Amino acid sequence: MAFIDEAEIVINALNKHDIKAKAGKEKVIGLYPMEKLIIDFNLDSHVRNGNISKKELGEFVEKYLSSTTKIHHPSYLAHQVAPSHYTGALGSLIDGFTNNAMAIYEMGPGAAAIEYFLINWMLEKIGWQPSPLTMEDEKNSHCFGGGILTHGGSIANLTALLAARNRVAPAAWDNGNPPDLALLAPAGSHYSIARAASILGIGRNAIYHLDVDKKGAVLPDKLGKSLARLERDGRKPMALVANACSTAVGIYDPLDKISDFCRDNNIWFHVDGAHGASVLLTREYKYLLKGVEGADSLTWDAHKLMQVPTLCAALLFRDHADIDTAFKQEASYLFHEKEQPGFDFIQRTIECTKAGLGLKLFMVLAALGERGISDYIESRVRLTREAHGYINGQSGFECPVIPQSNILCFRVHGSDELQIKIRDQLIQEGNFYLSTTLFNNVRYLRIVIMSPETTLEEIKKLIREIKSIIKGAMGVTSD
Ligand SMILES: *Cc1c(COP(=O)(O)O)cnc(C)c1O
Repeated sequence: MAFIDEAEIVINALNKHDIKAKAGKEKVIGLYPMEKLIIDFNLDSHVRNGNISKKELGEFVEKYLSSTTKIHHPSYLAHQVAPSHYTGALGSLIDGFTNNAMAIYEMGPGAAAIEYFLINWMLEKIGWQPSPLTMEDEKNSHCFGGGILTHGGSIANLTALLAARNRVAPAAWDNGNPPDLALLAPAGSHYSIARAASILGIGRNAIYHLDVDKKGAVLPDKLGKSLARLERDGRKPMALVANACSTAVGIYDPLDKISDFCRDNNIWFHVDGAHGASVLLTREYKYLLKGVEGADSLTWDAHKLMQVPTLCAALLFRDHADIDTAFKQEASYLFHEKEQPGFDFIQRTIECTKAGLGLKLFMVLAALGERGISDYIESRVRLTREAHGYINGQSGFECPVIPQSNILCFRVHGSDELQIKIRDQLIQEGNFYLSTTLFNNVRYLRIVIMSPETTLEEIKKLIREIKSIIKGAMGVTSD
């Protein structure tokens, strides 16, 4: 079988799948037992024998697609994963096909050029100095930013904290950590922050939780108190991490005031904008990131709010030297010193073989433009605020915070257990897919409006279905 024939089978199947999913006529989720899928896909026979025929390929792809969770479905409301734009998937295809492991320039000049350009584009959106393109530029700019595209916000956060660790404890790369390092972060920071503390050998118990308000947003007036507590324990702050926005409820920390505090106290300021930094592209909501330019580093996922397929996350630094020395203390700051026509990203990343992640981001931007992405984000955030008004107005329902992003939590009157039962029942029915979260130790149902197809109609139908679940014989009283 030739590539072109197989591609035709796959692309046609994807096209049909896409149309069906977006129309919302089928179930958004169906959790078949794993052992059934392994048999249905005929995995054993295909793996042993190879030589899959055209007919078998068509059958396999169809079965596979029908087993998928439909991220593009208007009732997909669960996780912060982009309903990927097909142009991004074409970018993944080009990257997979050419397989230019571009961490060194000679292994992928095109991919490296795209990544360098996109990092600069993002640096400018933050308000940081882009990296120079020529030797002349480099001589004339003393402080410029830098960054890397990597496989997800979790790796980006780990890398940012590594760079922060190296600044406070430059000898740690060779000798290991001093025993007194600590981190400042709100309790509502993403779990990858605590993991990073453990991976870096600081230990997650070295995280000092910042005081927050009822929405979980950091209280800037209490920062001094947290720092004093840390110092009283004989520790040194390695970094302060803030959310833009928080994963559970999508609330932005006051970055401007936090950044002033970090500057005054000489503390590395990392902003975890994995989900919410994309509002920098909008006119309506970029104010939520006010003060981000005062940070040292920012995590910004493209595979969440920019319709880019997984994985594609950016880690950006105000000063490129911080990332250029993160993995190799004596790294040259100046890439033009090396006699080659482009940039090696390899010294900026945990990864050795590195995918050309910029292609999929570029392809989506080339289709939608900054304006298209901005319109998409603004419409999703606006709809989430409308959904909040609607749900909060229903008797028996309550929302803990007014949403700032496209994340909305609510609960029905009753126990935590009831919220989980409702979700289980919804997933079993397969008409809606949402998640739950703990916020201030209370269990909430949580929706994230990601699909461009979702309207207030879906939200109204969801609430109707939840009401009928509560009425139905669930064996749990609703109050
Ligand atoms: C999603 C998220 C992460 C993790 O990013 P991945 O790309 O899923 O690894 C980290 N921080 C925040 C605030 C997030 O919302």
